[in-house]
Amino acid sequence: MQSQAPMVYIITYGCKVNYYESEAVASNLNAMGIVNQMVADGAISHLPSAAVFVINSCAVTSMAEKKSRYGVSKIKRYHPQAHIVTMGCAFGRKTAEMVALEVADLLQINDKKTSVISTTGVVVRHQREKAFIKIQDGCQNFCTYCIIPHIRNKIEYRPIDDVITEIKAQSSYVTSVVLCGINLCYYPDFAALCRAVDACGIQWEISSLEPPMMTANLIDTLRQCHNFVPHFHICLQSGCDEVLRAMNRHYTTQEYADIIQALRAAFPDATFGTDLIVGFPTETDAAFQTTLSYLQKLRLDKIHIFPYSPRIGTPAAELPLIQNSIVTARVEQVKKIAFGVE
Ligand code: SF4
Repeated sequence: MQSQAPMVYIITYGCKVNYYESEAVASNLNAMGIVNQMVADGAISHLPSAAVFVINSCAVTSMAEKKSRYGVSKIKRYHPQAHIVTMGCAFGRKTAEMVALEVADLLQINDKKTSVISTTGVVVRHQREKAFIKIQDGCQNFCTYCIIPHIRNKIEYRPIDDVITEIKAQSSYVTSVVLCGINLCYYPDFAALCRAVDACGIQWEISSLEPPMMTANLIDTLRQCHNFVPHFHICLQSGCDEVLRAMNRHYTTQEYADIIQALRAAFPDATFGTDLIVGFPTETDAAFQTTLSYLQKLRLDKIHIFPYSPRIGTPAAELPLIQNSIVTARVEQVKKIAFGVE
């Protein structure tokens, strides 16, 4: 147990990749003898003083970006003497602005040009049930609503040996591991990685999958993995083919349904989740009804609903928005399906 007060607090917003990268920073600081503590974003009002606050930000929605920026200004207000370090997606394109505002002292520690602390490596964890393992970074798919390829478009992946070393290093501390990345489609031989991870003998899951990677070969590989936990989070985004095309998603609703059917045949006890954007600018009433009846037939266990929010710099942000009240009403209709309430 640490007896000294933390000199560094690490506050994380956003996805599993961000949590992994925050843990990597914490682990690397520990190795350097720097006392630090991970903190949930909701706890920042109550933090005692520290020398440095690291804010790992998220930009996936405008709300996430707003929360990250609010977090920085709150820390600045409560701890004017502290140094603030930002990392993550929200500030990737805002460096000049943040420096001009004198808000952060150091920006983007996961920017390769200014990297001071590694955001990968063997992350050492203690007393955690589940550990995220980042295996890949970057996306160049340019879905028309998404800001990520404009911020994290350098495709990188960790070699299988590197991933296995990290899993083995902590297999006695955690009960399961979750493979995560920005877009796992870019992992060169994902099936080979799955076989190697399974051979570690620890329970493992995959955080989020894209439909194009769900080939018969991958499904068959997973079926032969004895330690794999069959929860599949496969991003759908819309249940209407025209909207999927406008989003630059590379699959049809039929292909998606075929994947779910194949997985249900291979894994009778599997659970399924997805992400869904509601109120994309080209989602007409008819398109939304198509999505709704598609979801009713598909019967997924969990739907993460994202009311559409425009991200400046993406093609979809140029399109006229659907009225807020309509989007809210659509969200409510999906919620009824997602939680089985009619
Ligand atoms: S696949 Fe699409 S939604 Fe996912 S990170 Fe890439 S561009 Fe964004």
